[in-house]
Order: sequence, then structure tokens, then C-alpha cells
Amino acid sequence: MRKCAKCSEKGVIYLPQHRLALCKTHYLEWFENRVEKTVKTFSMFSKKDDILVAVSGGKDSLGVWHALWALGYKVDGLYINLGIGEYSELSEKKAKAFADKIGRKLHVVSLKENIADIPTLKELQDRPACSICGTLKRYYMNLTAKKLGYSVIVTGHNLDDECAVLMGNVLSWNIEYLVRQYPVLEEGNGFVRKVKPLCLVSEKESAMYAFLSGIDFVEDECPYSVGASSINYKLLMSKIEEESPGTKLRFYLEFIRKVRPMLAIKKDLHLRPCQVCGEPTTSDVCSVCRLRMRLENSKAEMRRDF
Ligand SMILES: [Zn+2]
Ligand SMILES: [Zn+2]
Repeated sequence: MRKCAKCSEKGVIYLPQHRLALCKTHYLEWFENRVEKTVKTFSMFSKKDDILVAVSGGKDSLGVWHALWALGYKVDGLYINLGIGEYSELSEKKAKAFADKIGRKLHVVSLKENIADIPTLKELQDRPACSICGTLKRYYMNLTAKKLGYSVIVTGHNLDDECAVLMGNVLSWNIEYLVRQYPVLEEGNGFVRKVKPLCLVSEKESAMYAFLSGIDFVEDECPYSVGASSINYKLLMSKIEEESPGTKLRFYLEFIRKVRPMLAIKKDLHLRPCQVCGEPTTSDVCSVCRLRMRLENSKAEMRRDF
């Protein structure tokens, strides 16, 4: 390993796309500066905002919480317990321990208490677990942030996540999703502002930051995410990145800079409040309330059968 570019210490990480070797201290500094620069470049939030980080217990969400806390932002956490056995129990424990360590609040929402756990909902619906889970996470993130008075929601999506989604949307030319792919989703229509401060750091860089910061995070992926197409796209992108470092960053940033502005931005989604819960939706009743109704119906049917 080369020497750190900033001091004479031995480097602990080499970043090929930036042609930079750094020691532990200077790597942590580099990472936090990069997060702060991303926050400022995309005007995500300021030090006055009350920020809520959606944490899963993994390296990215705990890492972004740590970095924003270290940079002096007012950030609390939100953990949504999905009820996926030991995986959820362990993640909640680690998220709680981390919140205690930095002395910030962690809010916990349990899907089981609010609707039903993911294994039950997956039985009910013939949809991939990740898609049900995504819908519910977005719903409870927004609802909780509003209820508790937070002005911004932060998620831990990194450059690899964003590239995988971009690749999927490009392969099927899904213009509607491409238009929405941006590090900031503005507030309005009942939605709290949502931002992704890790969108310009790779998965490896994020893992290294969590590790060098001494964060105790969950290493296992969600057991339901196995076989998701996004994992294949990530592997493909990483292969290209290995051959020519900087590809991921270029793919994502040039899309944001050059392509996205050319897409006609249709802002009118015909959003209206859900007739049951009042959250924004494009139909009369939102998808979470419809899910809840199906759950009630299936319980009633089961009672009839016995
Ligand atoms: Zn150094
Ligand atoms: Zn609803």
C-alpha cells in the first residue's frame, strides 16, 4: 500500500477512481467531506433542519447517520422492524446500540403492530417481498417523519445502489422512474423531503467508513433479497468498474447532469389524500390501506373456514 496522500502514514485504503491512498484519519475525513459536499451540491438540508435517518442496522444507514452526526447535523434515527425473524431482531439491537453510542434518539416502528410482518404479507400477496417491503418502508417513513415533525428523511442508498437502479431503468427505458431518479425528492403533496447523501460514494467506500469508524453493523443482507435482479446489476457494474475505475461515478453523474434534464418532467401525478388514512396516493385508497383491507378479508375468510 502506498503512503497516505495527506501525511506520511501508511495508507489503509486506495481509491483507484480518485487515484488516492489514505491513512485511517484522512480516509474518515475524506469520506465526511464527500458527504458534506454532496449535501451542499444538491442543497439537501442545512444545520437548522431536524433530520430523520431511516436505519436498517446495515453499514450504509448507520454510516450516513454517523457521518452527518460527526459533521454537526441534527440527526435522529428511524428503525422500521419488518418482523423477519432473527434478522430483524439483530438489526434493531444494533441500531439501538448505535443510537445510544452517539447519544441520539432512535424511533422504532413495528410493522407487526401497525399492519402485519413481512412474512405474513408475503403469503397474502403474490408480489416479491422487496416490493411490498419498499412500499411499506416509504409509507411509514413519511408518516412517522410528519408525525414527529422532521423536515427531511435521509436514506443510506450508495452509488452502487443508484447505479443498479439506473441500469435497470435504462435497460427497460422506464422514463417515469428515470425522471424520479435524483438524490433529492422535494417535499410537497403530503410528502416529506427525501435525500440520499451517500449517492456519490461506492459500497466499498461506505463499508470501509463504517468499519474504520468502529460501527457495529449487521453484515447479513435481508434473507428475502436473495436473487433480486438489482444484485446482478451490481455485480455487472462492479466488473466494469474493476476494468475501468470511475465508470460507476460517470454513469450516475452524467445521467444526472446530461440526460435527466432532457427528460420531460411531468410533475402532475394527480396525487390526492387516501380516503382512509390521508397519506398521498394516486388512487382513492392508498396501497398500504388496500393491503390492510386484504389482510382483514383473509382473516375473516379463515375464520369462516374453521
Ligand atoms: Zn494521512
Ligand atoms: Zn391509506
